[in-house]
Amino acid sequence: MIPYGRQQISQEDIDAVVEVLSSDFLTQGPKVPEFEQALSTYSGARYALATNSATSALHIACCSLEVGKGDIVWTSPITFVASANCALYCGASVDFVDIDPSTYNMCPEALRVKLEQASSQAKLPKVVVVIHMCGQPCDMKAIWLLSKQYNFKIIEDASHAIGGKYQNQPIGNCKYSDITVFSFHPVKIITTGEGGAALTNSPVLADKMRLLRSHGVTRDPMLMDTPPHGDWYYQQHSLGFNYRITELQGALGLSQLRRVDEWVQKRTQIATRYTELLKDASIITPFQSGESDSSWHLYVIQLKKPSARAMVYEKLKNAGIGVNVHYIPVHTQPYYKKLFSKQIQLPNAEAYYSAALSLPLYPGLTEMEQLFVVNQLKEALQ
Ligand SMILES: *Cc1c(COP(=O)(O)O)cnc(C)c1O
Repeated sequence: MIPYGRQQISQEDIDAVVEVLSSDFLTQGPKVPEFEQALSTYSGARYALATNSATSALHIACCSLEVGKGDIVWTSPITFVASANCALYCGASVDFVDIDPSTYNMCPEALRVKLEQASSQAKLPKVVVVIHMCGQPCDMKAIWLLSKQYNFKIIEDASHAIGGKYQNQPIGNCKYSDITVFSFHPVKIITTGEGGAALTNSPVLADKMRLLRSHGVTRDPMLMDTPPHGDWYYQQHSLGFNYRITELQGALGLSQLRRVDEWVQKRTQIATRYTELLKDASIITPFQSGESDSSWHLYVIQLKKPSARAMVYEKLKNAGIGVNVHYIPVHTQPYYKKLFSKQIQLPNAEAYYSAALSLPLYPGLTEMEQLFVVNQLKEALQ
């Protein structure tokens, strides 16, 4: 079976994890801070906080921005459910902005129109969560300008996008956002098994998220409201969680991060080759903006004949090719449908979903395997 995504684990990765196993700390030791420092250096954000998933990073990101009851968070319908769920965890409500049919990302023009309407009804969002879908960066400058005009905060869900660049600068630097979140699930660009991170340039948000990640508890005397009773002393300042990542994962992440550029380069080569090999097929190949570099987490094609998608999917599966569909629009999930009094329609997202198919893409995919995928796809399309 050729999967749609797969991790790369080297002997160095294994050695790094094994070394931690015989060290003094399995958690709360030196490896996680080292990994965070490396993430911060790599992405250009001042602070990086490693968490046990992108989902938990999104949660503490929303909490630190004080998303709560009565607030509204907007996101894209073409994402994994976690990008929207984070707002619901905080008691806020969620609404969706349709995608741009060419980039698959939140459409800045649709956002502008929706903000204008919401402004007249006093229903502006507190936070907008944007997703760099497939690793293709959003039009951050346009979205950031709107955030200044309409006074909302921005979280970048960059679960797909470590290693990508927007206007020649690394995704994760938070130049046009308050917080950026990465995922280190094994199908993503680098992995820690489960894991994620929240990055920010704001010392206030970093402090809040650091507390929330670990029970709301601090041992820093500077943050206490009384002098410490002694060395054992700690104080709880907020209702936090245990969203910490282990030292084993920190060591693995550190080791993986060393190869991120090499892997994104390999992914780019594979994607470029797909586009070349598929140029005459009756599909739409993915967009690449001139002002950004995708990390190519996913290679999503759209069938010109959506009615054939299920059949093409089946045929490829039967040939041992693990194609997939990213994503089922979040607003069509039963849980979300129940939250809205009337059905919302997002025509671009729905059209995209009906025709989308993710082809296998990961650094270890061989040229032979890729050619096999292309040939099987072309056959299935006939
Ligand atoms: C994978 C993913 C998540 C969730 O990541 P976890 O690390 O599994 O919690 C969130 N958002 C997007 C866009 C994702 O692809």
